[in-house]
This record gives sequence, C-alpha cells and structure tokens, in this order.
Amino acid sequence: MGLNLHCHLEGCVRIATAADIAREHGIAEPAGGWEAALRMRTPADLTVFLAHVAAAYPVMGFADALRRIARESVEDGAAAGEDFLEIRFGPATHRRPDLPVEAVIGAVRDGLADGSRATGLPTGLVVCLLRHSDRETNLAVARAAAALAGDGVTGLDVAGDELRWPSNEAYVEPYRIAAAAGLGLTAHAAEASGAGAAREAAEWLGATRIGHGTHVADDPTILAWAVDHGLTFEVCATSNIYTGAAPSLREHPVHAFLAAGASVVLGNDNPITIDRTLADEERDLVGQGGLASDDLGAIHRGSIEVAFMDESVRARLRERLAAST
Ligand SMILES: [Zn+2]
Repeated sequence: MGLNLHCHLEGCVRIATAADIAREHGIAEPAGGWEAALRMRTPADLTVFLAHVAAAYPVMGFADALRRIARESVEDGAAAGEDFLEIRFGPATHRRPDLPVEAVIGAVRDGLADGSRATGLPTGLVVCLLRHSDRETNLAVARAAAALAGDGVTGLDVAGDELRWPSNEAYVEPYRIAAAAGLGLTAHAAEASGAGAAREAAEWLGATRIGHGTHVADDPTILAWAVDHGLTFEVCATSNIYTGAAPSLREHPVHAFLAAGASVVLGNDNPITIDRTLADEERDLVGQGGLASDDLGAIHRGSIEVAFMDESVRARLRERLAAST
C-alpha cells in the first residue's frame, strides 16, 4: 500500500524526457548535461536543491511537454507500486505569452488522466500558488484551479521561499476562492519559517494539511495545537535530508509528530531530483529510520482519509487496505 501525497511535477521530469523535449523545442542542453542538472548525488542545502528542481523549468513551458511529463509521472508512480498519486505544481512558472495559466493546468490535468487511463493508478492534482508571484498572478491561478474543481483539480497549495516571503496575508483571498470551489487545502509551512507558520496557514488559509512542517517538531505547544486541530503533516523525509532540514531518517521530525499523535502522510517530494520512489521512503523509514510497522499502517489508513480524492476512489482504497491487512 502506498499513497504519495506530496510530489512536485517539476521534480518528476525524467532525464531522457528533458533531453527529448529540449531537442524538439530547440532548448540548449545545460553545461554538464541533463542528468547532472536534474539529479542531486549528495545532500546539500535548499538553494542547491531548488536549483536542481528549477533546471527542469525550460522544458516545461509547452502544452505537449507538460502533458507528457504529467503522464510519465503517473507511469513512474504506477511502476513503483503506488495506489494513489497526488501531483502538485506551480503553473505560473510554466506559462508563456501563448500558454496562459488555464492551458498550463489543463495540459497537466490531461496528462495525469492519460497516465491514469493507461496504468489504473488514480491521481489528484494540487495547484500551487508561489510565494514570489504577485497578488494578481496568485489570484488568477486560484481562479483557474477553482474552475477545474471536480474536473481534475483537487487541491490548492502555496510553495516557495518562506524566508523571503513569510507573510500569508496575500494568500487569504486565493484560498477563499479555492475553498468556495470545494478544493482541498494544503500549504508548505514551517519548513524554513518557525513553527507558528503552520498554525498561521491553518488559521488564515484554512489549510488542513501542512507540507513538511519540520519546525513544528521544535515547538511542543504548536505541535499539541496541530494535533488538537487535526492537522496533517506531509512528510518527505529524504528530501528534508537533501535540503539539510533534517540530519537523518532516525533523527527526522516524523518521530516527534507520531509520538505526539499527529496525522502523518508521506511523499517523495521531487523523485527524479533525489532518485527516490515512495516505496524507497517507506522501506528506509522503517529500516534506517526505525519507524514501527504499526506506524506505517496508521499512515496508510490516515492517508486514505485526508487525500484530496473522489469518495468513490476513497471507498475503493479503504477496501484495498482492508484486503491487504
Ligand atoms: Zn513540497
């Protein structure tokens, strides 16, 4: 059983696919080649990590490329044995004068549907606001996401540099639009900022899930508040090691979250960047990280309940889990 609830499309671009798209669209190969540009070999810091993710952006500004990358992300998730895959991405990065935000989201939506049809793996699509985008752009992204609620888009997120753009005030209105459309709400928070950013994302934006939230483990008061309010932490443990946010799987905040009784789900964040499947994450969290297999069972049960998905898919996954245990 595996539900991948935190996975960025920008970190799903296969190396061979980047080379193909670059050839088709006349994009120069990065110095050192696509593999060195897209893939990290050793843990570093967030700046280095984000540079590897951003290396894929030049091949993502085309509708056909976005559709292919999205389809392949589902094929890769299915090949790794996932039961549900929630893909997220920031459409504002990939728009062009001839490719508006609506078309960017539509292309990814269509690619995920192609992949689901081919593999049987159900998917969700979470649209990300970006902290460095201006207000009008984030409003346009939220409106475009809301327009596709029930038609492929399942959630809203905010991603980007929390240290340079710490305020959540600019996202209140976009989140209100998404909530009114019935989208699920998550937010990257307390990854670079302090623990209070997670509470703010819940109280100001209505987020029920927090991307990473690593610093919440530093503050028992906020952690207890998060548990009381049923917040879910989306944990991408190996990614946190590659960005320097956690020293090791054994010393990862996931253990504090679980010990406090918090809801935890898993993701592989940027699978091509760090060369990790969700199955790798689960295996190593248990083997190297010391996670109890009971904890993993609770993570699977909880993931089904908090994933942004159709109720029919949820019912099927509950049956599959019951049959597997
Ligand atoms: Zn993320």
